[in-house]
Amino acid sequence: MNSFDNDGHDCIIIGAGPGGLQAAIHLGRYNRRVLLFDRGGGSTKSAVNIENFLTWDHITGQDVVARGLEQARRFGVKVEKKKVDLLRQKNGSYEAVAGEDRYRARFVLVSTGVSLQFPRIRNLHRFFGRGFYTCVDCDGFQTTGKKLLVAGNSSETVRLAYAIKQMFTSDIAILLTDYQLPEEERELASEEGFQLYGGTADELLGEEHLTGLRLTDGRVIDCEAIMAGFGFKFNDQFLAGLPLSRDSQGNILVNAHGESSVQRLYVVGSLRPGNPQVIIAAGQGATAAIDINKQLLSI
Ligand SMILES: Cc1cc2nc3c(=O)[nH]c(=O)nc-3n(C[C@H](O)[C@H](O)[C@H](O)COP(=O)(O)OP(=O)(O)OC[C@H]3O[C@@H](n4cnc5c(N)ncnc54)[C@H](O)[C@@H]3O)c2cc1C
Repeated sequence: MNSFDNDGHDCIIIGAGPGGLQAAIHLGRYNRRVLLFDRGGGSTKSAVNIENFLTWDHITGQDVVARGLEQARRFGVKVEKKKVDLLRQKNGSYEAVAGEDRYRARFVLVSTGVSLQFPRIRNLHRFFGRGFYTCVDCDGFQTTGKKLLVAGNSSETVRLAYAIKQMFTSDIAILLTDYQLPEEERELASEEGFQLYGGTADELLGEEHLTGLRLTDGRVIDCEAIMAGFGFKFNDQFLAGLPLSRDSQGNILVNAHGESSVQRLYVVGSLRPGNPQVIIAAGQGATAAIDINKQLLSI
């Protein structure tokens, strides 16, 4: 076993996203000393219907994370239910600061994902993942043949409606919040059969199933499903002091193994450019862990 520092870990993993969990399992199975931080929550945990993960017809994100943590613990991974406030480089290794506590490791893998942004909508919790969706790759299929409202605040919203029409349903209305569609695009959208609304969502309607959306001005848009996109923010404030290379959207750039421009700092999942999917993040975690282990072997 590697022992670069008796007080340290081989790798600190920040975030129990699928990429972090998969890396923890791989590194645990190399008998590496691994510490994983999980502040709770996260995108994966909010997914109620994962149906596109190999060998699972259906699994919830809660289950993916709970099973992943249990599996990682079986291979000796320590789990701290804490939020990392700061990550810094110190004397050739990394120091993670969580409240009053400090933890050291030679390698760090970040899997902290993004937080979706939403306007305040009453009853959102009741229908989230059960009629109200946020990711076409994840839940577009659930809208097949349904009366759908596509909601958002940019030209992306309209592009999404065109894409959905090709795959899932042609019964589509569009709600644009704080965004004016240029006149010629409005005409094209109307010709496509999309009913256009401007306004702000107030309340999701329905008892067992979603039946509509009430706007703040009282109008009701009937729908059986909503696909909404109002942007997100990266969960990366604790990385602020590190000179990471990013793309124009703020995604952290990495090499083919997942290592960032800061040596020995790996990034997996939604903080990277690409598609936020459980199976993709898990693959990134495995790739990164194998590379970290190779680097540890050569130290
Ligand atoms: C509603 C919804 C449905 C989805 N459905 C599907 C689906 O059906 N199929 C699919 O493949 N993908 C689906 N996804 C996408 C998928 O869940 C994730 O995008 C993907 O798994 C990548 O995970 P992540 O990198 O975003 O990390 P996340 O799952 O967001 O995990 C981030 C982790 O980091 C931790 N964390 C964050 N900040 C800190 C900090 N400072 N200190 C310590 N810990 C921290 C959190 O506690 C959490 O454990 C869905 C996403 C959503 C939101």
